Amino acid sequence: MRSAVPWVLALVGLAGCKMRQPPAASHSPSAAPFRRADIPRIDVHTHIALGAGIRAARLLERYGIVHAVNLSGPPPDHGLADFVADADVAYGRLTVFTNPNWSYCNEPAYGVRMAADLVRARDLGARGLKIAKALGLSITGPDGKLLAVDDPGLDPLFQKAGELGMPVAIHTGDPKAFWEEPSEQNERFDELKAHPEWSFWEEHRKGLLPSWQELFDAFVRRVARHPRTIFIGVHFGNNPEDPRKVAELLDRFPNLYIDLAARVPAIGRRDAAHDQAAMRAFFIKYQDRILLGTDTGVGHGPHSLMFGSTGTEPPTERDADRFFESTWRYLETADRDIPSPTPIQGRWNIDGVGLPREVLEKIYYRNAQRLLGIKLPKEPLPPQHRGIP
Ligand SMILES: [Zn+2]
Repeated sequence: MRSAVPWVLALVGLAGCKMRQPPAASHSPSAAPFRRADIPRIDVHTHIALGAGIRAARLLERYGIVHAVNLSGPPPDHGLADFVADADVAYGRLTVFTNPNWSYCNEPAYGVRMAADLVRARDLGARGLKIAKALGLSITGPDGKLLAVDDPGLDPLFQKAGELGMPVAIHTGDPKAFWEEPSEQNERFDELKAHPEWSFWEEHRKGLLPSWQELFDAFVRRVARHPRTIFIGVHFGNNPEDPRKVAELLDRFPNLYIDLAARVPAIGRRDAAHDQAAMRAFFIKYQDRILLGTDTGVGHGPHSLMFGSTGTEPPTERDADRFFESTWRYLETADRDIPSPTPIQGRWNIDGVGLPREVLEKIYYRNAQRLLGIKLPKEPLPPQHRGIP
């Protein structure tokens, strides 16, 4: 029988700062409501539209995230300074990464021009570089052919990032299921039905796009080529389906970090490649190299939010509550059958890894602080007044 005491403590708010230690009791409906650990969070993977900084800071703070990295910063000539100003307006709660100007790739020496832009971006206040999945899948070079992720013409850009101490958040490929037939049998069918254009199956079959493996191998060669450049392999090292492979890369490359963005459903599932004990061991072993990322998107208006993915219906506040609560429960409890934070990414529940507090602190904020020099805010956001953000 479960004692009634935890209930009472939770009701009076005394249990709030208690961390759940494994093996935690499972979260049956009769258990006390989940309370997230009292640890500040830095989210290294968000997408925030220009002018939506304050909205994002307020939304994220509700879920314990006190600072976020906006990976959607443009190149210097395309409004980067405005994004940095917006980050300041948002009570300094945002850090901005810049994206390269891919249109340079139509002419020779594009990598040199991008490297020069990166210096300007740093001077304007960008803290890192984002490489989108478009590299490898849609960016073409001067000859009109697809540029590979390890295209030598881009070497100066990645070298410069290392020289400037700017980490590179790199997204290569996508879920493996996006290369498989988008039928009912596809594990990402719900998502592919809502976004048919996310499927690469047809174009890959026609020989127009590389395979998932070709892209991933090029990503690995890119990381290997620049040992002095810090890479953040987003979406669980671009390979959440195969944590063993990710572990192998983390062992091989001390300059590689990973974020968790939009991949908690993929790593929390129970299948041949993932189980609770193995995933927990992974987090413990690589605790200094894993960063919290959520892939939260914030724009303007009610239809402009994203929590890891989007469906055909715009997300609601309840989607946000479930997204963050399931994410925290995954990391903080050893509960089984936690509802997926992003059900559209697959019809399964997830099993928590129940990490110790020291490990949670590193993943939630200490690693990001070390890598990006982010200072935690000393105070909560000021109260919101009507008409004044
Ligand atoms: Zn993203």
